[in-house]
Amino acid sequence: MIDFSLSNEQKALQDLARKFTQKEIVPVALQYDKESFEPDAILKKAYAAGLMNLTTPREYGGHGMGLLDAALITEEINAGCAGIGGMITINSLACGPILIGGTDEQKKRFLIPLCESGKTASFGLTEREAGSDAAGVKTKAVRKGDEYVLNGQKCFITNASFATLFTIFATTDPSKGTKGITAFVVPRETPGVSIGKVEDKMGQRALNVAEVNLDDVVIPAKNVLGAEGQGFKIAMETLNEGRINIATTALGIARSAFEASLKYAKERVQFGKPIGTFQSINFLLADMAAAVDASRLLTWYAASRSDQGLSFAREAAQAKLFASDTAMWVTTDAVQIHGGYGYIKEYMVEKLMRDAKLTQIYEGTNQVNRIVAGGALMR
Ligand SMILES: Cc1cc2nc3c(=O)[nH]c(=O)nc-3n(C[C@H](O)[C@H](O)[C@H](O)COP(=O)(O)OP(=O)(O)OC[C@H]3O[C@@H](n4cnc5c(N)ncnc54)[C@H](O)[C@@H]3O)c2cc1C
Repeated sequence: MIDFSLSNEQKALQDLARKFTQKEIVPVALQYDKESFEPDAILKKAYAAGLMNLTTPREYGGHGMGLLDAALITEEINAGCAGIGGMITINSLACGPILIGGTDEQKKRFLIPLCESGKTASFGLTEREAGSDAAGVKTKAVRKGDEYVLNGQKCFITNASFATLFTIFATTDPSKGTKGITAFVVPRETPGVSIGKVEDKMGQRALNVAEVNLDDVVIPAKNVLGAEGQGFKIAMETLNEGRINIATTALGIARSAFEASLKYAKERVQFGKPIGTFQSINFLLADMAAAVDASRLLTWYAASRSDQGLSFAREAAQAKLFASDTAMWVTTDAVQIHGGYGYIKEYMVEKLMRDAKLTQIYEGTNQVNRIVAGGALMR
């Protein structure tokens, strides 16, 4: 038998996140979409509520949850605002390389202070010339004795302006391609680290995204994660987990759009009837509900495989691409169901449509996720 029901503990986690979202996120979501946003206040509240560092093991200061339990929480938070949700959950991506490639000593040195402080970190892989083709990173790391000197620039780095440390991928030997890439932990205060252009984005506007400049940044060799040349593998494994988080982001957005549409379709009367009774609107709602449920099941399946120690790269890619494509069309149809009001910023569905688009792009575009899933099928 397959049991889809949640335990009492899981229901309690979901309930905690739902109440937090209603109290702290929903009331400010539209405001933070319009105005520049200092995340400190909301991060402090999320931290105090136990909603940050979900998957970091308890011995390193986190909550020690599996990906499935974390997914229950992140769906709720992202249903309130994906931009704010991205800030609250960024540490799971940023710390992934430390958890995957770090030694026990490195995990203690980096993760415990981060988790105890309630601060945030960033994941630095992408560069102007190396997006989908992440193997093409040009940031250089040159070993000098017990240190490395890093030079280069990262772009589109989520939360960069507020991060207290970065996991950075640089090449120690460009002739070796993926095998020349090494992962480093770079504390924010290291001389030579600076934040460049902050991007002005279409959606998820509460989420800070900026360039990170590395100019003669000297990092001790004890900050290398794994061995020299293992960085690409560490990055890809981190992204496999990250894709489950993005699937829950998309799921939260799509669910919100569906719920808003259902409510509106019951309340809005035209031709003397609620518009939800017209078959063309009613069928849109039926398709939305089916796709939201399917996104959740794919996401839970990928997460539970990871929690059981089974392979999950293909399932995570499938969940991410399906949930994000779903979020895009569900939010577009939600605007349609709201008619002219859907096009007005005061109504949340306009924001949800802009927020959804990013989920098809980051942590591997959906073209790249199809390459990951399709490649796994052929092996
Ligand atoms: C808001 C935001 C936040 C981000 N956060 C982070 C972060 O925290 N850390 C980080 O490291 N990066 C981050 N990124 C970067 C993100 O992961 C990249 O933007 C993404 O991987 C795509 O790279 P690109 O933008 O260079 O597009 P490109 O790789 O140039 O792709 C352009 C188009 O070509 C397609 N394409 C490329 N190669 C192929 C192929 N082989 N087959 C078929 N189609 C292909 C793509 O799917 C896309 O449609 C973020 C990006 C954004 C916009």
